[in-house]
Amino acid sequence: MALCGVAGENLVRFACIRTGIKNAGGRTGMGCLMGSKNIKAVAAKGTRGIEIAHPDRMLKKVEELKEYLMSSKITPILGSVGTPLLYEVSNAFGGIRTKNSQLNAWSDNLNASEVEKYVEKMISCSSCFTHCRHRNTLDGEGPEYTALGLVGSNLGIDNLAHVIELQNDCNELGLDISSSGTYMAWATELMEKKIINKKMTGGMKLSFGDFETYKKLLYNISRRKGFGDILAEGSRNVKRFGPKSKDYLIAVKGLPQSDPHDVRYMRAFALGIATSTRGADHLRSRPTLEIFFKLPPEVKDRIYGKGISRDPTSLDGKEKVVFFSDNIFAMIDCLGMCKFICHGFNSPHYVDYKWMSELIYCASGWKYKENELREIGKRVIDIERLFNYKHGMTKKDDTLPKRYFDDPSPLKAAKGHHVDRKEFAKALDRYYKLRGWDNNGVVKGARVKQLEAIQ
Ligand code: SF4
Repeated sequence: MALCGVAGENLVRFACIRTGIKNAGGRTGMGCLMGSKNIKAVAAKGTRGIEIAHPDRMLKKVEELKEYLMSSKITPILGSVGTPLLYEVSNAFGGIRTKNSQLNAWSDNLNASEVEKYVEKMISCSSCFTHCRHRNTLDGEGPEYTALGLVGSNLGIDNLAHVIELQNDCNELGLDISSSGTYMAWATELMEKKIINKKMTGGMKLSFGDFETYKKLLYNISRRKGFGDILAEGSRNVKRFGPKSKDYLIAVKGLPQSDPHDVRYMRAFALGIATSTRGADHLRSRPTLEIFFKLPPEVKDRIYGKGISRDPTSLDGKEKVVFFSDNIFAMIDCLGMCKFICHGFNSPHYVDYKWMSELIYCASGWKYKENELREIGKRVIDIERLFNYKHGMTKKDDTLPKRYFDDPSPLKAAKGHHVDRKEFAKALDRYYKLRGWDNNGVVKGARVKQLEAIQ
């Protein structure tokens, strides 16, 4: 069953479609769209099984794949602690969004070892043996790394039980955690800077670390009550709060950044969220291996290609990293497979084009060569680009929140780092060129004709 929840019913612009307590189509307000059509839920029950072209070979391949995936060091770690392991990794060098990115590092209280204390058991999505998800002891599922950052450090909360409670609330109300945490932190900084006031919030005082107020605000957003009704409009509030407010909004193309990475230290991440189709979306191009500093250089070369700077703070060659990641993640999306086990997302040992080709053949009998699969991912990106262009998105939308350019990170190894505008512009040009787009990031006419000719 897929349902939109109370936030979707009340047309909150960042409402999810949920298919479980935690699993969600969380971004871009699909729950709101569902609510706008007066659909609360869709339920389906299958009775006819699934036809597999080569069932014996498929079973053999799945067993092989299981062994192959388990050979990665990351799989057992994901299965025991889940994504919270990334919190500590990012926090160690100052790469965690904190207090609306005014800071870039936060408390160790949200480390995976602390999360463990609230884990009832590890669970998994249907048929997956990785079981990277948690059922928590506070009557919900999670938290993931995203929740630790967005309703934890980003709101200035270091009490883990409170963080878990806020993310459980988001899940139950049908609110996108990334957007909710980003908007509440944004509003808090706007109040600190006196860009909004208590008159605008209906008397509500917003302060970083104020768990009770944030809890109430989440409830009010989902019911569109008081200031919650205003915040439910999301980034459209730039018009209401005034143009200065945009400088503090951590969003791209109007979409709040989905992951808690502070990208001032991680330039491939920065280029990725700036160029991603949906906006600040780590699920399109997250090059996690960029921050696994100990990964041997030859392994990175093999994945992304040569001529890429080893320095995470350099943009040299990072267009290749984003290009590779965009394409393979788009392809894995076409298969409906989990990105966590996709080559390059969390480990170099995960499902690559060779595996995809074999699995597609076993399941459907269709023969795809590796280079044909690469081309499919590339095609997806081009078609999405055309869609965006048709709806008025241009080069000016491939950018970053002002803070990432103009405010250097204040803490840890990332201290002093920010994204240089000139370097960024050059990297953007190189990325467009690699994709075969024109200097303005528009898909060229010849390519459009080629795409139109595909049946
Ligand atoms: S399908 Fe993905 S998210 Fe779900 S348990 Fe497996 S690895 Fe984790």
